[in-house]
Amino acid sequence: MASDELQVKDSTATAVFDSDAAKCLVNDLRSTFLAGKTKSYEWRLSQLKSLLKMLDENDKQICDALFSDLGKHEMEAYIHEIAMIKNSCKLALKELKHWMKPEKAKTNLGTFPSSAEIVPEPFGVVLVISAWNYPLLLSVDPVIGAIAAGNAVVLKPSELAPAMSSLLAKLLGNYLDKSAIKVVEGAVPETTALLEQKWDKIFYTGNGLVARVVMAAAAKNLTPVVLELGGKSPVLVDSNIDLAVTAKRIVAGKWGCNNGQACVGPDYIITTKQYAPVLIDAFKHNVKKFFGDDPMNSPDISRVGHENHFARLKKMLDDDKISGKIILGGQTDKNNRKIAPTIVLDAPEDSLIMSDEIFGPLLPIITVEKIEDGIEFIRSRPKPLAAYLFTNNKQLKENFVNNVSAGGVVINDVTLHLMVDTLPFGGVGESGMGAYHGKFSFDTFSHKKAVLYRGFFGDAPARYPPYTPGKLRLLKAIFDGSLFGIIRAVFGFS
Ligand code: NAD
Repeated sequence: MASDELQVKDSTATAVFDSDAAKCLVNDLRSTFLAGKTKSYEWRLSQLKSLLKMLDENDKQICDALFSDLGKHEMEAYIHEIAMIKNSCKLALKELKHWMKPEKAKTNLGTFPSSAEIVPEPFGVVLVISAWNYPLLLSVDPVIGAIAAGNAVVLKPSELAPAMSSLLAKLLGNYLDKSAIKVVEGAVPETTALLEQKWDKIFYTGNGLVARVVMAAAAKNLTPVVLELGGKSPVLVDSNIDLAVTAKRIVAGKWGCNNGQACVGPDYIITTKQYAPVLIDAFKHNVKKFFGDDPMNSPDISRVGHENHFARLKKMLDDDKISGKIILGGQTDKNNRKIAPTIVLDAPEDSLIMSDEIFGPLLPIITVEKIEDGIEFIRSRPKPLAAYLFTNNKQLKENFVNNVSAGGVVINDVTLHLMVDTLPFGGVGESGMGAYHGKFSFDTFSHKKAVLYRGFFGDAPARYPPYTPGKLRLLKAIFDGSLFGIIRAVFGFS
């Protein structure tokens, strides 16, 4: 969407969205927040219920938008986007009262008598900037967390999924409280205008380069950020496996999940030189089984999301460094933004395909002498969002879990950890910071306020000046938790 088409979509008005407009928007939301409207349990509940209703009543429109933006099959749209946020919404509705409850905390002798609790409080006015590849999920899931935690929120969907961006603007405007929840559509200029404002938290999903822009803008106001980024998520495949299941899971996880355009999608495979031919045969077999003889025309494979991404992937394919190494696929269709499932064997480390996150249907296979070398290979590169291992070998599993640092690890499957809402979902190092999903979403949008309650009884004179050696002895004994020391200090014997 061009910048001059940008709207703050809570009305039919269309206006240029500049820094002044952004400032007004944030001021309005801050007034709502400061009036306390979003903090009540009832308000949060009503918004979450409306969100669920919105999903129930508009699934056809949602699927159409996902098809228009990405050519996503209805089944994929349902499983990976609609069902995921419905679950998040239902969980928040079920657990909200419990999540909002202050948590009792222990106190110590130094504050005796007292009690303490941790009170979750909303940050205030928060900004959610989302990406194009799962344009419903990545927009609405953080918004659920922000609402559940009692914040006012602005959502900025990705301009690279224009149908979903405009649908979200319409639907959220119709179903949710416009005085506290807004959608701003737009691209870089509009996001820049938003980032110039003072937010209480920014939640960004996208690439690491823009994450640095977001973080630099946030730093000006000491605004905390969550950065949900990507990276090259490796899959280490041992020979001690169930080959048929392994190949199915990897092929479906790579090409059946938005055609490789998933932040946790398998980016590259590592296996031993000896095992590679067996694994490659199994991959080829399953690509054919799942997507037919002509995968370019399979309805079960999504399009490349945008022409810029098509050009980026084409450049990876045309890189001289991988010439002669494509062992499956390689076909491209620029007009329809289609690229066939493609396997590249032993791409050099400095090739484009092994230097950058692929985020598309290309799958390099790197071979090593022994499987443990694969762990060292992964450890020598930036920390990925996900790391996968297929093996029956217990020791190898332990080695992998203990020594590979990644946002999340899955043993003997790919991508599924993000469906487990009792696990935090987020990156580490280059793959991001902060996490969400389930209760973690609520926590991410809540400040944990420490509250200590005291009465006027039990006011120890020792804490007040003038300071004396006797008082110091007593305080030391109290902080050391030494009953004998306390008695000694109080009664003055040595
Ligand atoms: P994108 O192009 O949709 O950009 C993300 C957001 O950043 C958009 O809303 C866009 O308007 C905004 N933006 C772009 N340039 C900007 C700028 N200069 N200043 C301010 N805002 C700007 O998405 P993308 O970056 O192509 O997303 C793909 C990346 O995101 C991949 O690296 C992928 O792994 C990662 N990703 C991570 C997750 C996760 O949950 N961790 C999910 C999806 C994608």
